[in-house]
Amino acid sequence: MKRVLITGGAGFLGSHLCDRFIKEGYHVMAMDNLITGDIRNIEHLFHLPNFEFYHHDVSKYIHVPGELDYILHFASPASPIDYLKIPIQTLKVGSLGIHNCLGLARVKGARVLIASTSEVYGDPNVHPQPEEYWGNVNPIGPRGVYDEAKRFQEAITMAYHTYHGLETRIVRIFNTYGPRMRLNDGRVLPAFIGQALRGEDLTVFGDGSQTRSFCYVDDLVEGIYRLLLSDYAYPVNIGNPSEITIKEFGEEIIKLTGTKQKLVLKDLPVDDPKQRQPDITKAKAILDWEPKVSREEGLRITYDYFKNLPEEELYTAAY
Ligand code: NAD
Ligand code: UDP
Repeated sequence: MKRVLITGGAGFLGSHLCDRFIKEGYHVMAMDNLITGDIRNIEHLFHLPNFEFYHHDVSKYIHVPGELDYILHFASPASPIDYLKIPIQTLKVGSLGIHNCLGLARVKGARVLIASTSEVYGDPNVHPQPEEYWGNVNPIGPRGVYDEAKRFQEAITMAYHTYHGLETRIVRIFNTYGPRMRLNDGRVLPAFIGQALRGEDLTVFGDGSQTRSFCYVDDLVEGIYRLLLSDYAYPVNIGNPSEITIKEFGEEIIKLTGTKQKLVLKDLPVDDPKQRQPDITKAKAILDWEPKVSREEGLRITYDYFKNLPEEELYTAAY
């Protein structure tokens, strides 16, 4: 039985990865300090003999017993309000955290896959974004703590690959959504759906002309699984190229939820990228991967999930 360590395993993406690797017959070790995650995302796995949970901060020395084939480093605050609230922890998990994972991988002879992000492209001057684009990031702006941590994470991972011959994989994840996102994490989809469910107007930042391209979580997990098992060590974009303005996205959520509320404009956060769309030529060619779930279908599944949460969760503040 292959053994995989998933850091950030109690988070949105990490918990879906735990499910996938369990389904594929792996022994899964999830490690998480629960700073932005939720133990309920993985509780359904606790009874399994091939699942273990380690409550631990990855930025501190890490060790797990036994052999290890793969490490997936997904621990990191991921939403703007999270990483603005805990900027130093964000920088630490993207630097000390990945250093610990790479060290553990050398000891165990494991392959490492890191969760990088479309944020390495910053507010991009090239559109759509291919992996060759180096990005346009403000290192000292509010988003710099996340973007630069992720850029450092790519650099150190590549250095371990080049200088130590470690097997490494880098996935650049574009905006992904689905069940188990936190309703209060401030990202646009849970924000809009939460507002619709509470009977509040939907807050569009700026004039809503900025774009994003939203990928359903199952498609992302499939891409990550294929990349891990591939022999490609350079960054690969995984995302859904279907691009939409945030204003149009708000209108879609109004239609989906049937709310009587409307869109209201609020200030645009500093350094908010104006456009974002993945160029997935590489993922198609190397992994034979492309997204399968339409936004209409993915949003319906996600809305059903949020609608069925206990009502008090609608009113829980982020921190
Ligand atoms: P999330 O907040 O739901 O999950 C992150 C998990 O990491 C949480 O469970 C959190 O408790 C844990 N964590 C954070 N710091 C830790 C530490 N020091 N030690 C141990 N655990 C720690 O966010 P997510 O959306 O699931 O994102 C997961 C990963 O994917 C992140 O690395 C994020 O940067 C990356 N990513 C996500 C998206 C997206 O659209 N969801 C896009 C690009 C990149
Ligand atoms: N956004 C918005 N209203 C909200 C939350 C976010 O208009 O209540 C906008 C935000 O300014 C950004 C886009 O939606 O332009 C996506 O934001 P999110 O935080 O989901 O992801 P990111 O900016 O990291 O891509």
